[in-house]
Amino acid sequence: MAGKVVSRCKTVRQLYDYFLVLDFEATCIQNAKILPYQEIIEFPVAKLNSSNLEVESIFHKYVRPTENNNKGLSTFCTELTGIIQEMVDEAEPLPEVLNSFDRWLETEGLRDKSFIFVTCGDWDLQIQLRNEALNKNITLPPHFSSWINVKKSICELTGVFPKGMKDILNSMEIELQGRHHSGIDDVKNIVEITRWLLKKGHVLRNDKNSSRGFGSSV
Ligand code: AMP
Ligand code: MG
Ligand code: MG
Repeated sequence: MAGKVVSRCKTVRQLYDYFLVLDFEATCIQNAKILPYQEIIEFPVAKLNSSNLEVESIFHKYVRPTENNNKGLSTFCTELTGIIQEMVDEAEPLPEVLNSFDRWLETEGLRDKSFIFVTCGDWDLQIQLRNEALNKNITLPPHFSSWINVKKSICELTGVFPKGMKDILNSMEIELQGRHHSGIDDVKNIVEITRWLLKKGHVLRNDKNSSRGFGSSV
């Protein structure tokens, strides 16, 4: 290797081989609760390598709602997310998308690696997926039960709990990519937030394995 400059990765060793950055979009109406319950309409996940911070693959599917669909997506929902009726009409319903996601985990070799989901807030995996699975009698695989909320990670690092994704990007001086509330664009932005934390040498932990006072450069 004489004469060759070997670049050194400044990031510290993380607890997981991969971070699966996820951001759902769901059916919604303005200023009211959607009945009978919200349904996921966009399911994007980016596979971020924790050693070199590269996105190696993206899983991205729209999802057809089956409970609210008789009335169609609200104009409010389309304006918020950029998702139009045809995009969900042509999509598979949640059980099929979950099966496709399972196959993606397999083809990406993630069964033999350690991974954890990364989200901005707890809504996606604590509320939405759980609630919808319960209502539709879907048994979720155990990996959906733990995740890292970047808002909590930022609070561990700075002592301040951030409001939302746009505020986080502003505070990190990262430019917003694409359209906020488009699931795939939100994922790209959360990837940048995750990279920022990793470059700071912060070890990303979920609530279960987080411990206060445990140094961030371990
Ligand atoms: P987000 O990841 O912030 O784009 O939001 C996820 C989902 O939360 C959206 O797809 C909507 O279902 C819902 N949501 C977000 N913002 C609003 C809002 N201002 N009013 C109603 N629902 C919202
Ligand atoms: Mg979100
Ligand atoms: Mg979103």
